[in-house]
Amino acid sequence: MPSAPRLDLGPFPDAYGYDDAIAQDRDDPLARERDGFVSADSDIVYLDGNSLGRLPVDTITRVDDTMRRQWGDRLIRSWHEGWWELPERIGELLAPVVGAEPGELLMSDSTSVNLFKLAAAALSSAPDRRRIITDDLNFPTDLYVLRSAARAAGAGQRVEVIGSDGVDGPMAAIEAAIDDETALVSLSHVTFKSGYVYDLARLTERAHEAGALVLWDLSHSVGSVPVELGATGADLAVGCTYKYLNGGPGAPAFLYVRRDLQDRLRNPIEGWWAHDDPFSFHLDFEPITGIRRFHTGTMPMLSLAGAEAGIAQVAAVGIEAIRAKSVALGCYMEQQWRRHLEPVGFGWASPTDPNRRGSHVSLSHPEAWQIAQAYREEAMVLPDFRSPDNLRLGFAPLYNSFLDLHTAVLRLRAVVETRIHVDYPTEREGVS
Ligand SMILES: *Cc1c(COP(=O)(O)O)cnc(C)c1O
Repeated sequence: MPSAPRLDLGPFPDAYGYDDAIAQDRDDPLARERDGFVSADSDIVYLDGNSLGRLPVDTITRVDDTMRRQWGDRLIRSWHEGWWELPERIGELLAPVVGAEPGELLMSDSTSVNLFKLAAAALSSAPDRRRIITDDLNFPTDLYVLRSAARAAGAGQRVEVIGSDGVDGPMAAIEAAIDDETALVSLSHVTFKSGYVYDLARLTERAHEAGALVLWDLSHSVGSVPVELGATGADLAVGCTYKYLNGGPGAPAFLYVRRDLQDRLRNPIEGWWAHDDPFSFHLDFEPITGIRRFHTGTMPMLSLAGAEAGIAQVAAVGIEAIRAKSVALGCYMEQQWRRHLEPVGFGWASPTDPNRRGSHVSLSHPEAWQIAQAYREEAMVLPDFRSPDNLRLGFAPLYNSFLDLHTAVLRLRAVVETRIHVDYPTEREGVS
């Protein structure tokens, strides 16, 4: 690859949108939150916080203390000095961010595993209903896992994937598909590619009218979009903590079970952590009451400790303020796209209504893969590429500024105008 820089990395004070970015940053009530994150290379514009959030400075202290003092010094005593309760304690911290009550949210396993546990629990609670409704905007793991749960249920349960136009959720088709054969409706609240936001209240209500349960995947909404699990009566939810919650790579996920369902649903992997008296080591399983019933086995304490600081920051700032900035960033992005990127061939592959859009957008371009490589290597912008032709730009309101977006847009335009991307391979290899 080229060794000398071929692009001006900005800032671009003469370009349309610069003054607006500076003004919005100046008036941004969350501007100081950025200082709470490690950011070693100031040339990098990080627009992938919806895939792996940045490292909060407090996380380092927290993990260090967990290693040196709690593990190194206190050793096994730490299980009874806070470790055992940590999944619920962090769950309580996170609960208000998604409109849940304490005791309804538990840090547990991974998103995929939690999805399986709750889907299987839902299916076995209504064995006569065979249909599971989802859509083709869902994250692929969700489809694989729902099919696994259907297979495990073993009575002909099947997953029906409702087709979309690739951007907006097929609301009408989903509403029409939900019937009295439906056991479960499971969707991503914010879809991973286009960033479409489902009307969680309306679909929950529609599912309930038909006697079905809903299981929401909040991976792309938690920490970016307000979620009203309690007020809407949502039954079940899972979500990821390493995206907008900045919990760290592979940080434990969470699960939500509405309180009145907790003792009616059965965890399909009842392990000792879900036992009423785990240290009695009884050979027979006796489930604990409450949300801990959905535990399985020993939780990874280092990763869990690592997730706490990011979650605490989101909870302290409050989801309404985060959403307000996210909407402003999204609208600014759209304006910038129209002026700078549409003319050089980028399509807008996300909703245009800010109320139906999460905190990331997808831009389509026939040469998106080559552009993504040049963008990372030479323009120092880290986006996501999503097959076949999407460049996905996530804006994390806690650390992305309006100037970040302005700079990223101008650098993207420069990549395409100089055509430096044509030097990069058209074929994809490995992970991106
Ligand atoms: C990120 C994400 C996941 C991740 O699942 P893991 O089990 O952590 O690999 C699942 N579902 C959705 C919708 C996601 O966005």
